[in-house]
Amino acid sequence: MNQIYSKCIICGTELIPFIKEIWDDRYGCPGIFAIERCPNCGQMATIPRLQESDLPELYSKYYPRSKVVYEELTVEADRVKLPGAAQTRWWEGTDNQGHYLAKSGQKVLDIGCGSCLSLLELRNLGVEAYGVEADPSVQAIAEHFDLHVHIGNIHDNPFPDEVFDLITLNQVIEHVPDPAALLQIVKKRLTEGGQIVLSFPNGDSLQRKLSGSRWINWHVPYHQHHFNRHSFTILAEQEGFEVTRFRSVTPNLWTLLQMAAMGKPPIEGDASSSWGATDAIASPSKWNFKRIAKGLLRRVRPLANPLIGLNNRFFDVLGQGDSLIVVIQIKR
Ligand SMILES: [Zn+2]
Repeated sequence: MNQIYSKCIICGTELIPFIKEIWDDRYGCPGIFAIERCPNCGQMATIPRLQESDLPELYSKYYPRSKVVYEELTVEADRVKLPGAAQTRWWEGTDNQGHYLAKSGQKVLDIGCGSCLSLLELRNLGVEAYGVEADPSVQAIAEHFDLHVHIGNIHDNPFPDEVFDLITLNQVIEHVPDPAALLQIVKKRLTEGGQIVLSFPNGDSLQRKLSGSRWINWHVPYHQHHFNRHSFTILAEQEGFEVTRFRSVTPNLWTLLQMAAMGKPPIEGDASSSWGATDAIASPSKWNFKRIAKGLLRRVRPLANPLIGLNNRFFDVLGQGDSLIVVIQIKR
């Protein structure tokens, strides 16, 4: 392994072993990986690291894409207008997504907009929404709903004439080979006083500490970097930003998925049977995230919201939540 790959991307300190053997326990991408940790800033890394050029094949071969039903997407996006929607998101822990911080009249870019739900919600909130998404199947969704979506990535300089009041990166930065380069490119697309909101798994969370190598957010090899509040703050400052807000949030669904994943891991190279710990997955080889989620929620919803919600909101306040949401802006 090249020496350069065993240094911390944040502070340059030599990494030390943390988890010796770990593999893709969701989608069965073959290969044994390791997690290494920086003794100085606590940043962790999936080893060996991937290059930008490795990503298209990895994602197209192993990452499942769920089918989108347009009517369901519309119904879901309309929920954002219901009275008490913000309280519901808080209680479910789904407010770990940056676009909910957008204000009416703003121009917002969501990088990694996936199914376009975020863009539809933004439109419902009176926001001018733009999206970037690598998955070419999203083109059809964008056209159906008449949304501004660039298929590709932010390095293509999408919407070249636009700058944005808010740029959101929800569960994106941990996937990219070079987070500092991503921050630099996004920086150029902000209005004066504009903000970037990032959300990513919390390498210091309670669930990470309790779950050992079974933490669902190791998610190797797709998750390359495992940030914590301290290490991300150093990165942001090095790249010329100041952190204006930090919060930890645990989506209740993540807790359910973590509980389901605590069984025996599948053999390296096999797609999840541990995610099949519930009969929500009739056919493990064909599962998709939404189906598992719906099955789990249906079974435990009467208990999940009061018990898991109460527990999660308590640990969120202590900074131990499973995802971090951070607002940054260019340092003056
Ligand atoms: Zn470090």
